[in-house]
Amino acid sequence: MEVYFLGTSGGVPSPERSLPCTAVHRNGRTVLLDCGEGSQRRLMQSPVSLMSVDHILLSHHHGDHVTGIPGLVQTMDLFSRERPLTIHGPEGTVDLIDDMMNMYDGPPGYEVQVNDVPPEGSFNIDGLQVYAVPTQHSVASLGFVLREATRPGRFDPGAAKALGVPEGPMFSRLQSGMDVEIGGRKVIPEDVMGEPRRGRSIAYSGDTLPCDDFAIAARDVCLMVHEATFPDGMEKRAEESGHSTFSQAAAVAKRANSRMLVLTHISPRVEDPVEMEKAAMEALGGPFVVAARDMDSIQVRFPD
Ligand SMILES: [Zn+2]
Ligand SMILES: [Zn+2]
Repeated sequence: MEVYFLGTSGGVPSPERSLPCTAVHRNGRTVLLDCGEGSQRRLMQSPVSLMSVDHILLSHHHGDHVTGIPGLVQTMDLFSRERPLTIHGPEGTVDLIDDMMNMYDGPPGYEVQVNDVPPEGSFNIDGLQVYAVPTQHSVASLGFVLREATRPGRFDPGAAKALGVPEGPMFSRLQSGMDVEIGGRKVIPEDVMGEPRRGRSIAYSGDTLPCDDFAIAARDVCLMVHEATFPDGMEKRAEESGHSTFSQAAAVAKRANSRMLVLTHISPRVEDPVEMEKAAMEALGGPFVVAARDMDSIQVRFPD
């Protein structure tokens, strides 16, 4: 599972940073987290095919997070897309996308499905369970936690041999969850398999104040992507506008026990993101904080 930070600015773009868009690429298909203006060009600059995007999750309806949708939908049409595209977002997303589709000369030649996600709603995208969490911004907003299903535990060949199971096809049967019989005695997979192992997981905050519910929902994620609009020292301004500072984002990641934190939605007013990143690292008490730059990418690995 790879994550591409296609647009890492907040509010307005800068020469270096495009508007918010993060791509989660898994098994050849892509989920976009927000879709600010310029997202389709960033996709074209990345190794991810624009046509592999099947789902877009919108954290909220501020322009910096949604203005990339009309252009992307149109380009997919010009590229003769046939697969449906599904856009999920907070209440009102159906109306928003309806309005956007009215900009065109007729609907695109493929289906654009839209899903108004209820607060605390959950749905599945190709084996990835998505949990929506109401967050604290100036308009209705959602954070998203994406979790793969658990995987079977590790097979213990020593335990199998000790129970008299010969190496070979019977090992495979046990590993695929089936019982075997040895001399009239049954051996079941639980006898020779370890505890189920967790899948990979990502939590995406969208725009928000530091939010307890988001930290709770994101418990133990492999990667947290959190907004860090303001530099440390601008807590008051962050609170007034429903945003977080670098160190506040780090505190949320610490509360969630996230293995890694990437900061995004970085305002052009942050003069030195690396210095802010260091401060956030100190707040977190660990080494795994990165202030994303456009086109950075990260491989999310299995936790064990
Ligand atoms: Zn924003
Ligand atoms: Zn916003």
